[in-house]
Amino acid sequence: MKLIQNTWVIALLSAAIIFTSSAVGAQGYAEDLLSRVRAAASSVPGPLAESIGFAKVAESHRPYSDIIEGGSDELFISARSAYQLRFPNGTIMLDSGMDEEVHTYYGFGRIEPYWQETNNLLQQALLDAQKILITHEHGDHVAGVVRSPNRDELAAKTLLTEAQLETLTMRPQLPQIQISPELASKFIVLDYQDILPVAPGIVLIKAPGHTHGHQMVYAQLSGDREFLFIGDIGWSLDNITKLQLRPEGTIARIGEDPEALMQQMIWIKDRMDQDGLIVIPSHDDLLIKRYVAEGILEDSLVIQ
Ligand SMILES: [Zn+2]
Repeated sequence: MKLIQNTWVIALLSAAIIFTSSAVGAQGYAEDLLSRVRAAASSVPGPLAESIGFAKVAESHRPYSDIIEGGSDELFISARSAYQLRFPNGTIMLDSGMDEEVHTYYGFGRIEPYWQETNNLLQQALLDAQKILITHEHGDHVAGVVRSPNRDELAAKTLLTEAQLETLTMRPQLPQIQISPELASKFIVLDYQDILPVAPGIVLIKAPGHTHGHQMVYAQLSGDREFLFIGDIGWSLDNITKLQLRPEGTIARIGEDPEALMQQMIWIKDRMDQDGLIVIPSHDDLLIKRYVAEGILEDSLVIQ
């Protein structure tokens, strides 16, 4: 009887491993993931993106101890931004910024910088774009689409995963970003196993942990530069380089899966150290400024 029970346990464990290996489970990403991502990146014909711009619509100011376990009381500036992948024949937007009401929600009563003019420009860039990708279903990434005065037009070219859509319809992070069944029907909704090429050089990589629908975006640019947009897996590049999660209280507040996040961070660090990928966390203001100074990113949006 004991033997049978053990066999069952092994069978169940195997099933769990098969179930989670598609994205990232306790054992981490597969060894060959980057080579599969690179192959997928070249599977969509067409010229690669040539440059990347961004717009910062707001800042939030937090003690560094909110960002990383064991961090000091020093100020950490979190940039609330959206990115623009610029192809010779058009643009793809990555995330969408947010309006001031959603920004205010995240201030928890504090008044923090918000630039309305920049968000207006970002709204224009979203209208101009051929496609909109969303790293995850939190308000500071998706509100620029779901609360836009042009939401129907934007939804028609926005790719949402089933997990992202489910959260936004059933249990949104804040009531203001809940989307109705009618609006939900206007999005391009997709699901995929672990990676999905969506444009020349651009590949989605499933990365649930910060949220259920979280994904990374790999971008190969002309000139062989490779970028990895890691969304909110870490708010600071320090989370990755030090392999240090957010503090426990923050993890609990967000409802994150710390094991999955750690496996993702290990993979990202390896890709940075061993393969030279340029890693971009959504919110690391200091790092983004450094990338601008180094000519890696442009602090601007191209409007047609
Ligand atoms: Zn965020």
